[in-house]
Amino acid sequence: MPEIPQAVKAFGVTFKAMFRKPATVQYPEQPAKIAPRFHGRHQLNRHPDGLEKCVGCELCAWACPADAIYVEGAANTDEERFSPGERYGRVYQINYLRCIFCGLCIEACPTRALTMTHEFELADDDRTELIYEKPDLLAPLLPGMVGPPHPMVEGADERDYYDGRVTGASAEQMAAAKATQQEESTA
Ligand code: SF4
Ligand code: SF4
Repeated sequence: MPEIPQAVKAFGVTFKAMFRKPATVQYPEQPAKIAPRFHGRHQLNRHPDGLEKCVGCELCAWACPADAIYVEGAANTDEERFSPGERYGRVYQINYLRCIFCGLCIEACPTRALTMTHEFELADDDRTELIYEKPDLLAPLLPGMVGPPHPMVEGADERDYYDGRVTGASAEQMAAAKATQQEESTA
């Protein structure tokens, strides 16, 4: 049997490829498909009343193999409370020039304060912009939340927060947060 010329074989490959579904992704015009467990930008989560889940324990920073996290904890006071526990994360930075998105930090976090979102568009032409500060990482305030500092829900303790018995900000918390905002605006 005569051998099929190489050129004809090559056209055969091209012909078959014409009927295959294109693999081209029209990004950024169309959103990219992200796997459910994709590790993107980090997020510092809040309790349902707006208080922060981070307690400034630094376990995430110790777990990071790339030394990309810097945390400074501070004590909550009755006048200025950011989280339900004794302490909160006063300074929180993630250096995305170092981060390798391994997720070890979120595994180490004892309060589920730190999780990773699906956001991956982090490129920048300024290196300093890739060091994310706490305000860049904090979860947005959802309906029913008020931004700290403000007291815990009346009668609730730290345990109630972690057991899910706090479901949103109370009227007293809203009034306290409003008073703090007014004080700041008149100062
Ligand atoms: S994802 Fe990995 S490299 Fe990035 S901050 Fe967390 S522990 Fe460090
Ligand atoms: S994010 Fe979690 S592990 Fe890191 S300091 Fe806050 S509470 Fe601790």
